[in-house]
Amino acid sequence: MKTYPHSLFLFFLLFLFACHSDSKQQLAKTAKDTLIHDAQSTVPVKSLPADAKTIILRKEVPVLCYHQIRDWKASDSQRAHDDIIPPANFRDHMKMLADSGYHTILPDQLYDYLNYGTKLPSKPIMISFDDTDLDQYTVGASELKKHGFKGVFFIMTVSIGRPRYMSKAQIKELSDDGHVIASHTWNHKNFAQFTDQDWEIQIDKPTQTLEKITGKKVEYFAYPYGVFKAANLHKLKEHGFKAAFILSTPMDEANPIYTIRRIIDPGRYTAKNLYNSLQKSFNKKKIVTPVS
Ligand SMILES: [Zn+2]
Repeated sequence: MKTYPHSLFLFFLLFLFACHSDSKQQLAKTAKDTLIHDAQSTVPVKSLPADAKTIILRKEVPVLCYHQIRDWKASDSQRAHDDIIPPANFRDHMKMLADSGYHTILPDQLYDYLNYGTKLPSKPIMISFDDTDLDQYTVGASELKKHGFKGVFFIMTVSIGRPRYMSKAQIKELSDDGHVIASHTWNHKNFAQFTDQDWEIQIDKPTQTLEKITGKKVEYFAYPYGVFKAANLHKLKEHGFKAAFILSTPMDEANPIYTIRRIIDPGRYTAKNLYNSLQKSFNKKKIVTPVS
């Protein structure tokens, strides 16, 4: 049979295309796998972190935020009843979480889940405390202990050792007990108003202070007032932070890992209110504009 040169050329082109699409499929598969195994060592190697869209589409893990845990005073404003939770209410809320089957997770677990799809325990929840208040150690940590829970303490370093705030020794004890110590700036300055100098004053120095106390790396940050500035989020990565936490405002779609949502558990809530709020706040159907 006579073979025409142009049919040979066509065959060659088809062959090239097949090889190319095959290697493309292979690449896509590798990128999609959350864990790939090194053929030589069989040690799992983490693939590249997920892109922003994938992270946003993952089911949100509830993250709670607490401030003061004490009984209300006559001088407290109505608004303060959100940020101040009476110890009896805090106790009820923790008991409800344990009785409902929630398991506390720490920021590294949340980070790995968001970036690599790593599996979490059933009904995961993160419990966080802001501002260094002493009652988070005396009441907060001891209530967590009753249920085998661990939490994250976002420390404002200027307050360490002051009356009504935690001491270095107490922060170290929390860290040694398996809680995570994280940064909440030096003196609670609004992140959106940071000057160039503030990256040293509000970020680098507090990190050094906390690392010296705990002997562990400080890799997580919570924005004072939950306020962030999208243009400066990349700087947190440059200054050694793996992720950062806001409050209940929408996350930044380009940088979801630096704008992880939390809700304040208001002091006036009953345990049932909190349960309902968790279902409502963190189980929304995500609507994300498809990327073409
Ligand atoms: Zn704060």
